[in-house]
Amino acid sequence: MDDEIRKLKNFSQFMAVETAEEKALLPSGPRGQSCTFLQKNVEATDISLQDELPIHMAALPNGKRVAMLKTMLTSACERNCYYCAFRSKRDFQRQTFKPDEMARTFMQLYQKKLVEGIFLSSGMAGGGVRTQDRLLATAEILRVRYNFKGYIHLKLMPGSEREQVKQAMRFSDRVSVNLEAPNNRVLTSLAPEKRFMEELLQPLRWVEDVRKNESPSQGWNGHWSSSTTQFVVGGADENDVELLATSSYLMRKLKLSRVYFSGFNPVSDTPLQDHPALNPWREHRLYQASFLLRDYGFDPEDLPFEKAGFLPLDTDPKLAWARANLSDTPLEINRADYQQLLRIPGIGPVSARRIISARIRHPLHGIEDLKNTGAVASRAAPFILMQGKRCPGQLSLF
Ligand code: SF4
Repeated sequence: MDDEIRKLKNFSQFMAVETAEEKALLPSGPRGQSCTFLQKNVEATDISLQDELPIHMAALPNGKRVAMLKTMLTSACERNCYYCAFRSKRDFQRQTFKPDEMARTFMQLYQKKLVEGIFLSSGMAGGGVRTQDRLLATAEILRVRYNFKGYIHLKLMPGSEREQVKQAMRFSDRVSVNLEAPNNRVLTSLAPEKRFMEELLQPLRWVEDVRKNESPSQGWNGHWSSSTTQFVVGGADENDVELLATSSYLMRKLKLSRVYFSGFNPVSDTPLQDHPALNPWREHRLYQASFLLRDYGFDPEDLPFEKAGFLPLDTDPKLAWARANLSDTPLEINRADYQQLLRIPGIGPVSARRIISARIRHPLHGIEDLKNTGAVASRAAPFILMQGKRCPGQLSLF
């Protein structure tokens, strides 16, 4: 297994650019923390390997945290995306796994209790269709030969076909396509060989088409896979309006569970090696805004964009919206409906539901009642009335 471990370690140095099921972290952590941070699995039989392999703690859609091997079948790629460490014109030693070799290696790590799930991507070798076939073969070996029941996140390659998309959904808990850019104009500045609509967006459309029109009994565990995508942020001249308008379309129309924003970091020996790295606060504000679109009923037009189409870096977008819209017209906490409650800073979907059910029994009187619902009362206070009165001391919070 030494040779396989050596190859996995070789991928490890580049995998930070791929976002999988990481939680969005505050930018105060070191860059790449979300990819490499790993809580030791106390049951693991070879803990030293955990430090060296591309394993990270992933938060699954059901909230469970699992140790995930984040890797690829090959670091060889025939394309030349301007930001990418794997581009064909870059000079470094490439590593490749065959499908059965990858599946076997993963299962050995699984049996050592080092990993519980896999995120599997690949460089493009021999076109998107042939590359997708190798990814599918790996997933099939895991599910059928090894009877692996754990988490699989499988990449869909640019240009993969509808039948391949469906096959990927039969084996995986999640599939994803890296759109890289919010539209064709921006993509041309990042990855001119990729075609936005035909190669990248189309597989995501097929995912939703399968979910809508084909019986979920054909999917893994009787469900069709969820889907996500990733944008490279800050490597071109895209603005936040473009990123979030496309995100909104993807989450609402194509039912993507999540959009990942991967802050650009220059890689040596690429056309963008002198381009500055992204300010991590921009990535963080984009995540906050995307959650407002997905979970809080915001439309892109509600977001507090500044003139050039960027979110302010120094303010949470929900707080900025509330300051502009609720400071002079605070919402009565005992009458606001669910959607209105979600607009108040410090109140999320869970606390909004608790407020509605608590006030059926009796009106909320004071800040302690609000705290008991799980809301962050200090954030909400400047924007609410409780039984017609503003909360004491709230103005000092501005
Ligand atoms: S196709 Fe993927 S792996 Fe290849 S250069 Fe582009 S981003 Fe990198």
